[in-house]
Amino acid sequence: MSRAAEYLRAKLGQGSCRIGQVVVSKDFSLCHEEDAGRADLALSAGPHDAIAIARNDDEGKYRPLKTAPNLRHGWRLELQSLREVALALDFLYPAALGTAAEQERGALEAVNLRGTLDRQTGMYAVVKRITDAQADEVIRTVCRGQPGCLRRILWPISKERPLASGLPEGRGKGPPGKIPLLCAEACNLLVAAGRSMVKKAAA
Ligand code: SF4
Repeated sequence: MSRAAEYLRAKLGQGSCRIGQVVVSKDFSLCHEEDAGRADLALSAGPHDAIAIARNDDEGKYRPLKTAPNLRHGWRLELQSLREVALALDFLYPAALGTAAEQERGALEAVNLRGTLDRQTGMYAVVKRITDAQADEVIRTVCRGQPGCLRRILWPISKERPLASGLPEGRGKGPPGKIPLLCAEACNLLVAAGRSMVKKAAA
């Protein structure tokens, strides 16, 4: 069994648990946390159905960021095993379970933003020129704007520069019974937004 599945088993051993906007029950069923108890949900029995569930929001709009707080309602997955639950969660919140498991065992290493940007090549290489102040602004817009992101940022801008004070922490830091949604490295959406900002500023 993978570390992520072991971690999930330990969490479910304490009762149902939440991750992002999803509640996972001990009987291997999942639904939107605001739908718990509803009897009129569309039932699915396969973990791969989570791909379609994660694709669009309630209005049918595409969700480019799977950890935005706009997961659609109206569905219930009734799965057969821990392995299937871990797989479905990976479609709903990519890599989140494994990241939380690594953090819990003290093995998670966050990558600072400069480290991520320094690896960009080709049309994205220009993002390396972003200033710290521009980076703060992009984070505020992409990670903490609307709709924003549920992940809790673990990385600083650089070894010397933390995130700007006043940047609200992500909403993924939950109470006991909640699996945290963590951001250990800036995602492609943030890098792309940083590139656009640098290009706009230079225009
Ligand atoms: S950089 Fe991290 S916190 Fe920001 S939007 Fe991407 S995944 Fe979410």
